[in-house]
Amino acid sequence: MPLRNISWESFKNMCPEDKARYLKEGKLFHVLLAQQFSRENLDKLGMLATHIRRIAKEKEGLIFLQELLRHKRAMLYFSQPSTRTFLSFCAACQILGISIGEVRDTSTSSELKGESQEDSVRTFSSYFDIIIMRSQIGGLAERMAWVLSNSERPVPIINAGSGKDQHPTQALLDIYTLQRSFEKRGGIDGKTIVFVGDLLRGRTVRSLSILLRYYKDVKQIFVAPPQLQVAQDIMDILTASKVSFELSSDFEKVIPRADAIYMTRIQDEWDSEKGESARIDTSKYWFTARHLSLLKSDAVIMHPLPRRNEISTEVDHDPRAVYWRQMRNGMWIRTALIATIFGQDQVILNYQGNN
Ligand code: ASP
Repeated sequence: MPLRNISWESFKNMCPEDKARYLKEGKLFHVLLAQQFSRENLDKLGMLATHIRRIAKEKEGLIFLQELLRHKRAMLYFSQPSTRTFLSFCAACQILGISIGEVRDTSTSSELKGESQEDSVRTFSSYFDIIIMRSQIGGLAERMAWVLSNSERPVPIINAGSGKDQHPTQALLDIYTLQRSFEKRGGIDGKTIVFVGDLLRGRTVRSLSILLRYYKDVKQIFVAPPQLQVAQDIMDILTASKVSFELSSDFEKVIPRADAIYMTRIQDEWDSEKGESARIDTSKYWFTARHLSLLKSDAVIMHPLPRRNEISTEVDHDPRAVYWRQMRNGMWIRTALIATIFGQDQVILNYQGNN
């Protein structure tokens, strides 16, 4: 059981790389940080997700999947807004036959009466077999994972987005999208990935940038207004891993070099004062129909969504715009992740169907 043999104080103060070492103990259990995954995990999860989506196409296949975890219950504890992550986790659970409970508005739970989040999560663990949680508090999922690991009912916690910090399962679906997009082009190795927008506060960028380290000769280019440029800790991680990266504020110049452009929205919910981000001219960082001609013919445009005006809707019809596909990939990779946590990966891979 990960996190059982360490005090909270020691764990809390570790760097993410060291934390990840604890999470890698034994089989996959808590999913908290991008750092806990390896290239091998990513390849396996991608393969499993593709296998699951093929099986689910046939009614018999879907029935087989829905029988696998019918005896399990999942709690979705989302105290921060979510559409795709929440619904794709719901759908992933349904594909595996898992029944679902949810708290999305803590003003309807006993947290309004002053109950701590720790006590809420311990309560969930009494009724459910896995807790999938999103919170505006960075590091809360880690704390809850530690609390449960050290309780008499340790159940896995999946971090579905924590503060400005990490969104590891979004990074998994982003990697899966890149794997599929570059399937016939030698995979992710050697590609140039361009991140655009609010790179300072976008947690999806942080988690994906960390996972991309596992691929050979990948170049990461961060394009943002100086005030929203990627944080120093990510640059330090990339430098320590000898990853080639560049910072830029000239979007148009970078577009022709991209194999994938990863657009993001301005995360103004984190502004320290109202209107802070609105004062920054971000329009130079919008992808419009005009930019399509600058982009390689086989490049892809991604976005974790929701979008505002950073990708114009005219771009949606271009075959290189893969953000809707990316979103669907989230359901399959999350299904693969949950199946793996509950030890069903090999059972699924062995399934032959009627062919
Ligand atoms: N949906 C993503 C997240 O939860 C991206 C965003 O909100 O901009 O971080």
